[in-house]
Amino acid sequence: MTSPIVRFAPSPTGKLHVGNVRTALINWLFAKGQGGTFVLRVDDTDTERSTQAYEDQIKADLTWLGLVWDDTFNQSKRFDQYDAAAAKLREMGLLYACYETADELDRKRKIALSRGRPPVYDRSALTLTDEDKAKLEAEGRKPHWRFKLSGERVEWTDLVRGPQSVDTASVSDPVLIREDGSYLYTLPSVVDDIDAKITHVVRGEDHVTNSGAQIEIFKALGGSAPEMAHTPLLVDAEGGAFSKRLGSLSMDTLEARGIFPMAILSLLAKLGTSDNIEARESLEALAGEFSFDKIGRAPAKFDERDLLALNATLIHTTPYEAVKDQLAKIAPDAANEPFWLAVRENCQTVHDAKDFADIAYGQIEPVVDEDDEAFIAEARDLLPEGEVTGETWKTWTSALKEKTGRKGRGLFMPLRKALTGQEHGPDMGTILPLIGREAVVRRLSKA
Ligand code: GLU
Repeated sequence: MTSPIVRFAPSPTGKLHVGNVRTALINWLFAKGQGGTFVLRVDDTDTERSTQAYEDQIKADLTWLGLVWDDTFNQSKRFDQYDAAAAKLREMGLLYACYETADELDRKRKIALSRGRPPVYDRSALTLTDEDKAKLEAEGRKPHWRFKLSGERVEWTDLVRGPQSVDTASVSDPVLIREDGSYLYTLPSVVDDIDAKITHVVRGEDHVTNSGAQIEIFKALGGSAPEMAHTPLLVDAEGGAFSKRLGSLSMDTLEARGIFPMAILSLLAKLGTSDNIEARESLEALAGEFSFDKIGRAPAKFDERDLLALNATLIHTTPYEAVKDQLAKIAPDAANEPFWLAVRENCQTVHDAKDFADIAYGQIEPVVDEDDEAFIAEARDLLPEGEVTGETWKTWTSALKEKTGRKGRGLFMPLRKALTGQEHGPDMGTILPLIGREAVVRRLSKA
């Protein structure tokens, strides 16, 4: 096989969320796993709803994720090519002018349905003579343009869904150009895929029916269609659909919440596949494990709890360098490597480090139960001399055990509560030096 060329084609009318990032990722993994090319196509033919700000944000998000593209272009710069393709289809008799208003079409649909027929466009515009058309245009009507489907079955072997067929007799001839001359998505996408020599169209299964029409347009304009892969859609943990504006799962919010790119990518790469959901440290590792054959047919359930669990796995080995800037914003006092190495095992996201920073550097309220007062006083007296180091906790608690006869929870918990004000938290041996001698003594004395 020659190297694949794929494209991810977002519309800059909203932010990227986990649903469309998954499509981008699958394209990327497939292409890069075989030394192929990943193209970012900006689908901005809808000039009303597309914005530069969304385009910039999409590019920033993909860059943050590491889904770098080899090439990018905007559809809005290619109207000449679309016009040329439309002219060619008109010449071939495959693009025809229609004059029905939305209301008229709606009425036709209702009548068809009431007669038990599928609501497919009846092609009455094909019978219009030049005179009819001139008359309609004199009335002020403008044409919209439909592609004439063959009425045959379009068949392809989908890389995810297996053998597919769309009966083009059972779908309406798709409108390619609106009354105001603007293009719907269908034609520009095909023209671009031909010009960019796309070998594989990989997208969500909401496009399966489109593919029927698009394959016919590919054949009319370019000879043959690319390979197709349609992946099941991502649904939320309850099985509901994701909306593009699902703000809490947009990339910028996930980043702000301290979720790492590789947690998102590991989850999205494995979700709905036969592989286990496990953290991977690089896109290359994910690419090495990718195969269309592993993707199942059922909708893939995206559960935020999986995302946090993967993030926790990754954070336990994340070096200080990687979180330095974020940490400096979240807990300025705690932006140092020993602190990070001490707390990361107890964090799900870098934000959790804030609690530990408060323990180490903030004003905490020691908690000492009445039964433990004497024990804590003893502990203060037995604190080893000199600077508190990584060894201190062990030496100290051994001495305390010997002296008081306490062990296990009875030995450790009162100390943890007196020193941190909490019952849970990072390994005490590690956090103790961060608290420092002065504060340790102060906290034990307050008790
Ligand atoms: N802009 C289209 C979408 O976001 C692209 C679909 C495709 O990949 O062909 O749905």
